[in-house]
Amino acid sequence: MEERLRELEAEARAALAGVENLEALEQVRVRFLGKKGLLTQVLRSINTLPARERPRVGRLANELRVRLEEELADRAAAIKAQDLERRLREERIDVTLPGATLLVGRRHPLMRVLEEIEDIFIGLGFHVVEGPEVELDYYNFEALNIPPDHPARDMQDSFYVSDRVLLRTHTSPVQVRTMERMAPRLPVKIIAPGKVYRRDDDATHSPMFHQVEGLAVDRRITMADLRGVLQVFAEQMFGPDTKTRFRPSYFPFTEPSAEVDVSCVMCGGRGCRTCSHTGWLEILGCGMVHPRVLEMSGYNSGEVTGFAFGMGVERVTMLKYGIDDLRLLFDNDMRFLRQF
Ligand SMILES: [Zn+2]
Repeated sequence: MEERLRELEAEARAALAGVENLEALEQVRVRFLGKKGLLTQVLRSINTLPARERPRVGRLANELRVRLEEELADRAAAIKAQDLERRLREERIDVTLPGATLLVGRRHPLMRVLEEIEDIFIGLGFHVVEGPEVELDYYNFEALNIPPDHPARDMQDSFYVSDRVLLRTHTSPVQVRTMERMAPRLPVKIIAPGKVYRRDDDATHSPMFHQVEGLAVDRRITMADLRGVLQVFAEQMFGPDTKTRFRPSYFPFTEPSAEVDVSCVMCGGRGCRTCSHTGWLEILGCGMVHPRVLEMSGYNSGEVTGFAFGMGVERVTMLKYGIDDLRLLFDNDMRFLRQF
């Protein structure tokens, strides 16, 4: 048995001498010290020896095991050091090579225009508030004076989540939520920007788009206040020479209601292709808050009045930058986006 141990030691040293990498080193370890390794087998067979020989052979075998483990650890350290030295010697970094170019990001044109709209109204004393995009039918329609059988619902093809829950089709529900929270305190002066959803998809409609809702409620608010606020907005957004005009319209939640046009940003009002040679561009809908909407939200319509407006951010962006296809805004094509 002692002879066998000496043989094993010689064998192991020979094997170690030829090892040049960590994989080969691991193979040597498994061959001698693994579960079925040669030395492991010897250690296991010690109990077959005559009792008087066991302690001595056992001690020798264990000593050999410890020596081999130390050898293996030394070799591993040496191989790692060699590898590091070789890499330091061979790998060179050429500092004259061009670096990896980082693309610099920028604000999406829609978000830039949205922030510009917010800034203008904040400057006029409005607060920015937000509301849920998944909305109750009550806030999206009923509290805005659009009962279940009202034909105005057909103007807004909706994505329903359940019978009573839908993706909001406009930002107007935030009006109601804000008034409910505020009533009867005055004044209310808010804008509510955000995403809205309708079942539309073509060159001028996207199933998801952005609106900014505006609402002011106080004593003695008149349509003149609405005109003044929107005139200031148009001048700051499209330029100081921009004119506005109001055309009568209909919305269930305002009375009277109006569509607002601005003088064409392309031709200055002389008439061109963008404005269909009318000199005017429609940018938003507005009106005086319907007394029923005020009452449903907790305000006394005999004492307070209010105005509201809603505009499409995509529409304003397209007019401001002369973009003729809405889908360009959502294609994420860098050739398009880099221009802003
Ligand atoms: Zn024009």
